Amino acid sequence: MIPAPADYQRLLEQVLGDIEPEIGRGRVADHIPALSSVDPHQFAMAVADIDGSVTGVGACTEPFSIQSVSKVFALALVVASDGARIWSRVGREPSGNPYNSLVQLERELGIPRNPFINAGAIVTTDRLLSLTEDARGAALDFLQTESGNPGVDFDPVVAGSEVEHGARNAALGYFMASHGNMENPVSRVLEHYFWQCSIRASCQDLALAGLTLARHGARADGSRLLTGNDAKRINAIMLTCGTYDAAGEFAYRVGLPGKSGVGGGILAIVPGRCAVAVWSPGLDSRGNSVAGVAALDRFTTLTGWSVF
Ligand code: GLN
Repeated sequence: MIPAPADYQRLLEQVLGDIEPEIGRGRVADHIPALSSVDPHQFAMAVADIDGSVTGVGACTEPFSIQSVSKVFALALVVASDGARIWSRVGREPSGNPYNSLVQLERELGIPRNPFINAGAIVTTDRLLSLTEDARGAALDFLQTESGNPGVDFDPVVAGSEVEHGARNAALGYFMASHGNMENPVSRVLEHYFWQCSIRASCQDLALAGLTLARHGARADGSRLLTGNDAKRINAIMLTCGTYDAAGEFAYRVGLPGKSGVGGGILAIVPGRCAVAVWSPGLDSRGNSVAGVAALDRFTTLTGWSVF
């Protein structure tokens, strides 16, 4: 079944009905105390078609902490203005390790496996800071512009909580600095990284912002952020690395480029067709939303819209 955009509402209602028992399963992230008080029984899903129309179910206009989903936008902005240079500082291979793991980074001499684990995103944020002097502001501006929603904003309580409980990320940053893989002072880079993770946006906002990757690099106003090749490459990295050490399972079940965050959000891209955002705070042991993965699994099963 290939639904016309007009049928998105029915499709999403069917997905929601089918996966309802999964909502509330899993554990809310607790390594960032400000996230641990979120009600796990929430769910939202939105599809933005490449024609710019958005359809949603559940709490699809409710903002939540996008966390690591922000890593996609930071990478896109760096690649857009700096081309391939970032790839001398970060790899493009799945890590097969938890998103905040230190062990691989030591063995691989301070070069993170990919830009979608924490160490790799700290490198990307470092570069974005050098390029813009305001990495967190650049990420926020992109999200506000593409979603058309000036209400997308930082969450100072979450950002403060991340700074206060950021020892693990600080360890990653200082370790990379010891290998010469940091351009700016680590404390400044971490500050931007934490604030970028704290951005609050809804499924509707995220799906609209993700459209740049579904439109092969074109922004909402028709201007080009990325070349078609670079958009393809970022989608490829999302597919292979966007859900950490569960990327194989995500490709098996969903079959789309996807990026998750510990706030329970996942952004998935159907190249040439649409961007799909889903949110439910209960996480599996790898840090991916249980109901979110189930909903995307159902979405691609019902539509046949996987990349495979
Ligand atoms: N801000 C979170 C952290 O650094 C992001 C992790 C995530 O969403 N996977 O731990």
